[in-house]
Amino acid sequence: MNNINFSSYPLSDVILKAISDLGYEIPTPVQQQVIPAVLAGNDVLVQSQTGSGKTASFGIPLCEKVDWIENKPQILVLEPTRELAQQVQEDLINIGRYKRIKATAVYGKASYVKQKSELKQKSHIVVGTPGRVLDHIIKGSLPLEKINCLVIDEADEMLNMGFIDQVKEIIAALPKMKNTLLFSATMPQTIERMSNAYLHEPIVVKIEATEKTTPKIQHAFLDTTDENKLNALEAVTIMENPDTCIIFANTQEKVNVTYDFLVKAGYPVGKLHGGMMQEDRFDVMDAFRKAKFRYLVATDVAARGIDIENITHVINLDIPYEKESYIHRVGRTGRAGKEGFALTFVTPKEGALKREIETFGELTMTQITLPNAKLVARSKSAFEAKITTKQKIKQPKAKRVNEEITKVYFNGGKKKKLRALDFVGTISKIEGITAEDIGIITIQENVTYIDILNGKGQLVIQAMKERTIKGKQLKVHVARKK
Ligand code: AMP
Repeated sequence: MNNINFSSYPLSDVILKAISDLGYEIPTPVQQQVIPAVLAGNDVLVQSQTGSGKTASFGIPLCEKVDWIENKPQILVLEPTRELAQQVQEDLINIGRYKRIKATAVYGKASYVKQKSELKQKSHIVVGTPGRVLDHIIKGSLPLEKINCLVIDEADEMLNMGFIDQVKEIIAALPKMKNTLLFSATMPQTIERMSNAYLHEPIVVKIEATEKTTPKIQHAFLDTTDENKLNALEAVTIMENPDTCIIFANTQEKVNVTYDFLVKAGYPVGKLHGGMMQEDRFDVMDAFRKAKFRYLVATDVAARGIDIENITHVINLDIPYEKESYIHRVGRTGRAGKEGFALTFVTPKEGALKREIETFGELTMTQITLPNAKLVARSKSAFEAKITTKQKIKQPKAKRVNEEITKVYFNGGKKKKLRALDFVGTISKIEGITAEDIGIITIQENVTYIDILNGKGQLVIQAMKERTIKGKQLKVHVARKK
């Protein structure tokens, strides 16, 4: 087992290079089972937690199998939340970077028209939330005839969020699948029934919790009342002085109130809930991931699957209504073998709910008591020193893959009747550039973005200032945003 590395699999050089740039050396246990199974064309039913490398376990073989020439989507990936859809899209783009795979994400509360225009272009893989995917299917903007693989990710969460009927509706609209891959952290009966109905002789992969996949989390609870929660939160955070902490509340209103309280108290803090604009949600996630602030107050939208490294503390300001949510929330800490601390505030009426969670999660929460004022005061200077010190900005994991890539902007697109071939034709004639250096091309109404690979962005920009495309002189510079 230990001798396995990614080059043991029949993967092409462009995929292996991207994997190596991402810093993956040894396939994780789930990858060791899923990659060969999917490459061989089997259906898989995978029970595995997030953090186990499961996205790459399907991303790698599926990017390998994509037929680049085909313009219509070949793979559909369903995710329960917009954040996950975006994260998985990014992961797939990173894995498929050198193969120039185009992965498009579609989710609610974002421009339908923009997504429709993206889907009209070459899109090898579509990642989306069930509601919006269904919307695109019904309105005819997501062609299904070439889809040959369906990935249902986080199936138990789809179930919890009430998306299962939409998932079934999507499946009914799809052509006969060559491959269906189903991933779930838990296997409730409904998911098993789905597997029986839609998967064909699947290879069943169950990753037993091991040292590496079981987070080392210390669970604790604190008896408190609703009125006292914010003061208790302040005392606890001063004592604990976490490096990074997510605070979960059950409602958007509670998130807002808690966030305002912490801002006033001088905490470096962000907030995240479903009522915020999609762009703002992404910006907050991105800033938190880059360690621009230490505290994030969130509703359950942030709980599931989101891959942020090194969260040291999770505090449930409100005990979650659903016992499954507890597992997902605390799963944000204790990742990759690191230790984590999960503290839940319990009000007098919530004892039964706490016990239910303990039974369900096979865990015991240790009681902690509120530190007295003297102790809090003594800890305050260390706490203040930390919250006023800026953290080192973390580079996102995609950085290395992107390093050699420059996104280049041109001020012309469909309206000027420009097509990908026109760009490729002109750019590949530049001395020192071949078609291999040209990555994903996104043509919009009035602008075009092209990824130039292998550190040759500036070369292309300089050369294109002197050249025309289809007789048209275009403005060209490094793109500001994707
Ligand atoms: P996931 O379970 O997909 O959320 O992945 C958890 C984390 O593991 C992500 O940050 C991945 O980038 C990372 N990862 C996935 N596969 C590997 C690997 N083979 N080696 C190291 N890290 C990996």
